[in-house]
Amino acid sequence: MEKGRPVFSISPFTLLDFPDRMACILWFAGCNMRCTYCYNPEIVLGKGKLSWDDVREFLLTRIGMLDGVVFSGGECTIHPQIIPFAREVKRMGFEVKIDTNGSRPDVLETLIQENLVDFAALDFKGMPGNYWKITRSHLFKPFEKSLKILLGSSVRFEVRTTVHPDLLNYQELDEMEKWLREKGFSGTFYLQLFRGDKETLGDLTQTRKPDFVLEQSVWRT
Ligand code: SF4
Repeated sequence: MEKGRPVFSISPFTLLDFPDRMACILWFAGCNMRCTYCYNPEIVLGKGKLSWDDVREFLLTRIGMLDGVVFSGGECTIHPQIIPFAREVKRMGFEVKIDTNGSRPDVLETLIQENLVDFAALDFKGMPGNYWKITRSHLFKPFEKSLKILLGSSVRFEVRTTVHPDLLNYQELDEMEKWLREKGFSGTFYLQLFRGDKETLGDLTQTRKPDFVLEQSVWRT
């Protein structure tokens, strides 16, 4: 993560990443996890290329054209300036969506308390027993706290899990779904099957086929 240039790149338009909104995506550089299946190694390991002045310049040209801005990455909440960034984006009239791995509940809480988040997508990597294996981090507890904060707020959010057959089996997914329900989550739990068609952070070239079939990509708990 390069100080002063927090954003790796901008996707100027998306209809897919912010539900019911026309949006752009800010890809924040750097992450505090190292998920083996991560599709964005250049963003996680690379340096930012755009300063906030660059981003502002772009966003000013999109006022009245886009509804929202997605803060993605990498992990956007590890950037020290994320809160002032979000304030400025909201002042421009955009809605804000946060894509997060849930590792910075303090930042998430501040964003929510200041009404700076309109939608959130929270990554649920796995249960504590395999969290390290999947993310190379010990950040399950912060993730759990982030879930609790979102559940206690009025912010719309979804939970999503990437399914790689070497990292999560059917029983573990079942356990995750039950755990979410016990926590009180009643929204949409998205499962995205690892496709293996892009470069990843870890070496997944020997990836085997799943020994189970994901009959649906969405579990409604
Ligand atoms: S998949 Fe993992 S390593 Fe990649 S950006 Fe998300 S949390 Fe970071």
